[in-house]
Amino acid sequence: MLIAGNWKMFKGPAETAGFCLELRRADVSGIEVVVCPPFVSLATAVQLLAGTDIAVAAQNVHWDADGAFTGEVSAPMLRELGVYGAIVGHSERRQYFGETDETVARRTEAALAAGLSVIACVGETETQRERGETEDVLRRQVSVLPADEQLVVAYEPVWAIGTGKSATADIAQEAHGFIKSLLDVPVLYGGSVKPDNAAELLAQPAVDGALVGGASLDVDSFTAICRASIRS
Ligand code: PEP
Repeated sequence: MLIAGNWKMFKGPAETAGFCLELRRADVSGIEVVVCPPFVSLATAVQLLAGTDIAVAAQNVHWDADGAFTGEVSAPMLRELGVYGAIVGHSERRQYFGETDETVARRTEAALAAGLSVIACVGETETQRERGETEDVLRRQVSVLPADEQLVVAYEPVWAIGTGKSATADIAQEAHGFIKSLLDVPVLYGGSVKPDNAAELLAQPAVDGALVGGASLDVDSFTAICRASIRS
């Protein structure tokens, strides 16, 4: 069971330090926990979580090692910082920053080749679900991802992200089963996971963990979700 917290564009280095010190004191032993701060806060998180089992991942990674790519950060640079992995293809990047299946594939391959773990996000929009296109969308998004031991897929239905409207446990189970039939990797569920719905979602046999956005910003709610994964 892997519980990852995607902080999105929240928490600079000072807030990150406070969060990490509190997280160190919380009991999350026996759970695979990852926090994903913004780039500027990665070094602080790596330093303050050193010596714990809590890993630190970035929210994006470029496909080249270096070059004229203003605003981007490469996999070797993240490795140098002591970062363990990266999220790739989050729906907010697909929606606002022109991320495509092709760029998701390039980022994923480069990150894996550099020795980073990857959490690759897939998921349908509300319109796609209403039109019965969910499986086609997932098939297309998953088809560009390589089978790799360091790859985890996060099923994040776009209509559930940041809306407070989580997928039902049955919807998550069905989508995860479909993704696993395409690619044999662990699949996390993401989309309005909160302390009060985590246990039910995480109890589904095809749900291997959670990618948590909003509820990962507060140590108490994040650790409550982490603990729910033990009981599931
Ligand atoms: C996310 O950012 O990946 C996410 C799932 O957000 P939230 O939990 O806030 O819906």
